[in-house]
Amino acid sequence: MSKTKKTTTLNRRDLLGTLGATVGGMMVLNHAVAQENNPAEHVADSASEIRLTEMRTHLVQHKVYVELMTNMGVTGWGEVSALVPTAAEVLARKMFDLLKGENPTRIEFLWQKLFRAHRDMRGGPFMSHTIAGIDMALWDLTGKLWGVPVYRLLGGPCRDKVKVYPTSKSHKVPPHGVYGHAINPDEVERMVNAIKRTRDQVGPDGTVMFDAHCAVPPAALIQLAAAVKAYDVLFMEEVAVPGNIEVFKRLKAAIDIPLATGERDHTIWEFIPYLHEAAIDVLQPDVAHCGGITQMKKIAVLAEAYHVPLAPHCTTSPLGATASLSVGASIPFLLIHETAPGALKWGEQFMNRPWSVDDTTAYATLPDGPGLGVTFDVEKMQAIAADPNYEWKWPEIKLEDGSIADY
Ligand SMILES: [Mg+2]
Repeated sequence: MSKTKKTTTLNRRDLLGTLGATVGGMMVLNHAVAQENNPAEHVADSASEIRLTEMRTHLVQHKVYVELMTNMGVTGWGEVSALVPTAAEVLARKMFDLLKGENPTRIEFLWQKLFRAHRDMRGGPFMSHTIAGIDMALWDLTGKLWGVPVYRLLGGPCRDKVKVYPTSKSHKVPPHGVYGHAINPDEVERMVNAIKRTRDQVGPDGTVMFDAHCAVPPAALIQLAAAVKAYDVLFMEEVAVPGNIEVFKRLKAAIDIPLATGERDHTIWEFIPYLHEAAIDVLQPDVAHCGGITQMKKIAVLAEAYHVPLAPHCTTSPLGATASLSVGASIPFLLIHETAPGALKWGEQFMNRPWSVDDTTAYATLPDGPGLGVTFDVEKMQAIAADPNYEWKWPEIKLEDGSIADY
């Protein structure tokens, strides 16, 4: 019997003693009796006594996987992505100081506890990506505890399947290089031709997107956008490095193709200016960057209020991708969802992927649970982690003249 039920019984007895058979008393009594007849009252709250006991971290090449353990044997897994992995592992382990002994089903409370733990460290990629991994693990654990896929905990599915790319019918064109401000006509032509080729490949009923990857300067982008109008590009992605909303406003005013961004932005606070300033048509939070499932769902709510759909950025292994698809399944305004075939294949060496893609229709199935539905082959994972030939290196992207390039 749960503690809640005991309290209800005590209240009922108290009420009988103090209120007697007055009309008001009978009404309250009837309410108490109704509560007692409520089937939900008789369900033991299996979440109430569960506590986090340990965090295991698994550093596998460029990734860190966090594994949360509990006193009830239920575990949860999360993916920490796109950081210096050795630093991310140390940070995740130190963050567990704040989680030990806590109830893992209090996901919002724990997100707040981590994010607001240190006034000078909140926000930014290191905190946000690491919290994202832990947040995924909490949702995974809670879904397993209740025996449902995570999207069921997020309000249930808004759709039966999720449109994804890349497939034979949906493809995003990369910028094919990095470009300085003195871009030449042949370089613009290279991008135009790539977009044209892709439109020919997917056909008139297919989807073409372009990712500028912050590697194309504003003037060249404006020129490019005008030249590819005929190929019906769904959106131009990452038209500028985040930081100055005025740049996005300027591009939005000059480009006649929908603009998308968001993969480098963290938490609801970094997404607000795009919406508030009407500077973006599509938002692209990455579940592993923005602060996890908890933040991505909130970003989707903000975007919904501005009639802006999400096209989630997603370059994670099956675990992170499943977390992202779970949010994608549960929100009303979803345009299309990214998958990264290379990252999925890499992860599938040591974990399953609980959803599949129909290449001819460009739709993914909803992920099977419970939780995120991803299980790990720890031995295989450890073998890959032990590969002596792998070394994490900083990207070094330069222009022809030797200067540093955005990418
Ligand atoms: Mg991108």
